[in-house]
Amino acid sequence: MENKKELRGWLDDLNLDHPLVIAGPCSAETEEQVLRIAHELKDTDVNYYRAGIWKPRTRPGMFEGVGALGLKWLQKVKAETGMKTATEVANAAHVKLALEHDVDLLWIGARSTVSPFIVQEIADALNGTDKIVLVKNPVNPDLALWLGAIERLATANIKKLGVIHRGFSTYEKTKYRNNPEWQLAIELQTKFPDLPIINDPSHITGKRDMIFDVSQTALDLNFDGLMIETHFDPDNAWSDASQQVTPKVLIQIMKDLKIKKETDPEADYNKNLDNLRAQIDIVDNQIIDLLGKRMKAADSIGVLKKQKNVAVLQSKRWNEILGKMVLEGESKGLSEEFVLKMFKAIHQESINHQEKIING
Ligand code: PEP
Ligand code: MN
Repeated sequence: MENKKELRGWLDDLNLDHPLVIAGPCSAETEEQVLRIAHELKDTDVNYYRAGIWKPRTRPGMFEGVGALGLKWLQKVKAETGMKTATEVANAAHVKLALEHDVDLLWIGARSTVSPFIVQEIADALNGTDKIVLVKNPVNPDLALWLGAIERLATANIKKLGVIHRGFSTYEKTKYRNNPEWQLAIELQTKFPDLPIINDPSHITGKRDMIFDVSQTALDLNFDGLMIETHFDPDNAWSDASQQVTPKVLIQIMKDLKIKKETDPEADYNKNLDNLRAQIDIVDNQIIDLLGKRMKAADSIGVLKKQKNVAVLQSKRWNEILGKMVLEGESKGLSEEFVLKMFKAIHQESINHQEKIING
């Protein structure tokens, strides 16, 4: 891929003193709705006004977007508010219409990024465009697929590129709608430090009251911007009702976020420190999550042991586990003393869980 200046150029040229903000409703619903939200966002930090025109719905029978008609409303937004506009494109026909209506920023949705054929079709339709094109991560946590989409666009001579991190699908229910898997975004940043990366806390959380925290983590990890779904009446939105915030709440979120200013002489140090601390917080949460899962499995073993009437403590198996973990730990730079201490504590917690089950 291209060098530093080329990749970041479009973002640097905006000369922002805050992270890039893309906001607006999940879906364009009516002309009045689109314009009302736009006017409420007009004199705020919002740089690009988003509205989904074609909605990729996982199951049929839901609101699938107003279609090309909505592009006229986005043109009105630009004329009346001066805000630039953004929408999702998912095939060559969408691209043609969006370009005809002068949409300024196009993004490829998570359900499209998974398909190299679709991405190639979009890249071909966009060939040589000077519009900004952002690629959402694929629904599955596959970095190669995400990068592959960027490469297809770069090969199609598209210069103003970036990515949107919107989290990943999981079979298991978590507190997120789409698990952030931050380490994947961090790996992408490490590989392409100059590729602008925008966080989409709306689709990651699925819940409006979690948006602030995810946004702050993203900024601590040096993300370049945020895409936040915004609606004047979130609860009655035609799609993604539970994750949209009002323009008023969006303004408050932007005000409360801790944003690092480049002019601070300590900026580099603080930025690196916050980035590393954010990474540690993420891993700590994962550790607690995993320990919770381990104890659930231990509980189930407790139930089995109770049925069979066998003892909680099985020393032979326990010694095998310890031996293996000490070796694993060594290969990761962890001392034998630490691994033993940690696993003894974990084991004790498992025993407590099982005893509770067996003895009622
Ligand atoms: C959206 O931004 O409204 C959208 C459909 O997002 P995603 O592709 O992340 O699901
Ligand atoms: Mn949405």
